[in-house]
Amino acid sequence: MRNVLPYASHHEVLNPTTGRLLRSVPATTLDEVDAAVALAARAQERWTRLAPADRARLLRRFALAVDAHLEELAQLEVLEAGHTIGNARWEAGNVRDLLDFAAGGVERLNGRQIPVPGGLNITILEPLGVIGVIAPWNFPMPIAAWGTAPALAAGNAVLLKPAETTPLTALRLAELALEAGLPQHLFQVLPGAGDIVGNALVEHPGVAKIVFTGSTRVGKAIMARCAEQVKRVTLELGGKSPNIVFADCDLEAAVAATPMSFLDNSGQDCCARTRILVQRSVHDRFLERLAPAIAAITVGDPADEKTQMGPLISRAQLDRVRAYVPDALPGIRGTAPTGAGFWFPPTVLTEVDAGAPVACEEVFGPVAVVLPFDDEADAIRLANATPYGLSGSLWTRDIGRAIRVSRAVAAGNLSVNSHSSVRYWTPFGGYKQSGLGRELGPDALAAFTETKNVFFSSTEV
Ligand code: NAD
Repeated sequence: MRNVLPYASHHEVLNPTTGRLLRSVPATTLDEVDAAVALAARAQERWTRLAPADRARLLRRFALAVDAHLEELAQLEVLEAGHTIGNARWEAGNVRDLLDFAAGGVERLNGRQIPVPGGLNITILEPLGVIGVIAPWNFPMPIAAWGTAPALAAGNAVLLKPAETTPLTALRLAELALEAGLPQHLFQVLPGAGDIVGNALVEHPGVAKIVFTGSTRVGKAIMARCAEQVKRVTLELGGKSPNIVFADCDLEAAVAATPMSFLDNSGQDCCARTRILVQRSVHDRFLERLAPAIAAITVGDPADEKTQMGPLISRAQLDRVRAYVPDALPGIRGTAPTGAGFWFPPTVLTEVDAGAPVACEEVFGPVAVVLPFDDEADAIRLANATPYGLSGSLWTRDIGRAIRVSRAVAAGNLSVNSHSSVRYWTPFGGYKQSGLGRELGPDALAAFTETKNVFFSSTEV
């Protein structure tokens, strides 16, 4: 009787802007997980037999349904995650675009013919079966779709376990999928606790692959449990990304881009450039210019179109961020509302030891540190002095340096003279302890297939 295990029967979804209850969402029971896996497996068998063009057409209809409800989904994300309305609209649009992009890959998921003696050799890309997508709360919609869209396009079924704090947009996406005509049970959302429902997906023999985005700690534990079944796994984990400012750069441009490089989504972004490495000769000038840029950031009601930064997701996250930033530390501090809601001001710490926890660990809040460096070699050493390797930026006018440094920094997503990291048509993922595998980009569907090699003998029988 697995169902008698003690666990919360409901999850309370709070509005992080006010701290008030939005909705209470029933948690999936373990028996319901078992049933969902069985139903998904049956739906997947039918789905994979559909003509590729029909699968693609249904995914495009799903994309159109998301587009038709873009504003509703965005407003829901403002309420449950405290995202600014501008970001939330981009996020709902990203789900639409991912579905469209994945739909375009269905008929292009080609195997190969490889020359061999004595016959014909072909490879076939077969779907894996049922995929478990375990999503975090920081970008509930896009990250759910990064796994779901290519997995469905490659002929799989998907069971999505949203984060406890942010299940609402995921549940709405599942309704839209059905309205768009996707087969029943092909895409199901299973709200619940990570260590109960998430763990059940990880351990279930009927789930062929886990796509996990979240903390490195949980990611490692999931990878270890997947190893018991040699279950396929893609991991998108934490980051502590550098923003490297060389003295030869356009300093005004580098300063102007710095605040939102770590304040976007209130810093709850695995790509946030939270280690600002500044060449010593321009260090003081950079800080003088950064102070007014930080003060100018509008922090407040995320539903207001002018707001640039909203609240943190939860009381627990606020407490976690506060613990990293003692009041006495020198630096630049912006402003944030006080009172109800989970607010923390934009914060840049100076004179921090490079080995201090705030300079090494993923804070996941609007907090960055500034560390000076002497020359190119020193910048590369500092940039790589972390177990993470997700993203990073470098600012320089020297094209040779841009090439050398972007080759030398061990990270999956780098940008030169910009902070952009994520486009649905370019690959995304981490080096080192920032993850395993890649999402998005031209190979996204292949990550949800097995390659089967078949040799046909031409010998007369
Ligand atoms: P988490 O890793 O605990 O949760 C992420 C997802 O995994 C959630 O859906 C959760 O329910 C699920 N989960 C948790 N334990 C699980 C288990 N044992 N088995 C299966 N699934 C499980 O992250 P968190 O506690 O919400 O956040 C803590 C910290 O993690 C943050 O402060 C941040 O540093 C980091 N984080 C990083 C990302 C990212 O995008 N890289 C996202 C969220 C959190």
